[in-house]
Amino acid sequence: MKKFAVFGNPIAHSLSPDIHQMFAESCDQDIQYSRICAGEDTFEDEVRGFFDDPNAVGCNVTVPFKTRAFVMADVKDDAACVARALNTLMKVDGKYFGYNTDGMGLVRDLAALDISLQGKQVSLLGAGGAARGVIMPLLNAGVEKVAIINRTLAKAQALVDEVADTRVQVASPDQAGGQLIINSTSASLHHELPQGVAPTLFTRCEMAYDMVYASQPTSFMKYACEYGAENQADGLGMLVEQAAAAFHIWTGCNPATFDVKERLRARLSQ
Ligand code: NDP
Repeated sequence: MKKFAVFGNPIAHSLSPDIHQMFAESCDQDIQYSRICAGEDTFEDEVRGFFDDPNAVGCNVTVPFKTRAFVMADVKDDAACVARALNTLMKVDGKYFGYNTDGMGLVRDLAALDISLQGKQVSLLGAGGAARGVIMPLLNAGVEKVAIINRTLAKAQALVDEVADTRVQVASPDQAGGQLIINSTSASLHHELPQGVAPTLFTRCEMAYDMVYASQPTSFMKYACEYGAENQADGLGMLVEQAAAAFHIWTGCNPATFDVKERLRARLSQ
C-alpha cells in the first residue's frame, strides 16, 4: 500500500486525508494518508523518518512548516522558488523534490468557476506565504497586473521588490480594485474583514475570492457582495485543486475534482 501524509501543527482539522482518499478511490488506488502533527524542533526528522518507510511516496506540508520544507528540498519547482515555501514533497533516488501547488490550485479553481484570467487585473490582499505562492501562477495564466494590498505596507513592498516584475505593484485598499479581488489574508479565519478594505475596491469586481473556506460565506465574501462584486467564492475549491496537483505529481493520475468539491461542501454545511 502506498503511504502519504500531511505534516502541520495543528493538523487535526486538515481535510487532506479525506480529499486524497476520494482521489485514490476514483483512480482505483490503494493508499494510506495520515495526519502528522509535527513538533517545532522535530519537523525535519519526522519527515525523514516518514520517507524511511519503503512504502512512503509523498507528503504534503502545511502551516507552519512550508518554509522549512522548502529548505529541506534538494530540487524545487519554480512556484516553490518564488514562494520560498512548498506544500508537496516526494523522495526519489535519495533526493527530496519540492513543489508548491497552491497557485496552480487557485488558477484551476478559477477556471472551474468559469473566470477567465486573460488580460485581467488582480488585487491581492495579503503578502504572506499564500500570496507569494499565487503571484507567478496568476501571471503565467494571463493576468495582466497584480496589485498587492497588505496591512503592513513594508511587507507588501518587500514582496514586490523580491518578485521584481513590473506587472506586480503595491496598492492601497481604498483604490478601485481589479476585476478579480483575492483575499489571501488570514482575517477570515477570525471572522474579520481584512483591515482597511473599502467599498471602492469592488467597483469593477467580477469575482471576490477568499482563500479561506468555511461552512458559510466569509465576512469578506459578504462585504464584496454588498459592494458590487458579481461573484464570490471561498477557498475550498483551491484546496481540492492543489491536492489534485499533488496527487498527480505523486501518482501520475489526474483525479476528477468536481465531485470531491461537492462532497466536501455538503459535509461542511452539515
Ligand atoms: P501568513 O501568516 O503567511 O500571512 C497572513 C497575511 O494575512 C499577512 O499578509 C497579514 O498581514 C494578513 N492579515 C492577517 N490578519 C489580517 C487582518 N485582520 N487584516 C488584514 N490583513 C491581515 O499566512 P498564509 O499567507 O500562509 O495564509 C493566509 C491564508 O490563506 C490562511 O488563512 C490559509 O488558511 C489560506 N490558504 C488557503 C489555501 C487553500 O488551498 N484554500 C492555501 C494556502 C493558504 P501582515 O503582513 O500585516 O501581518
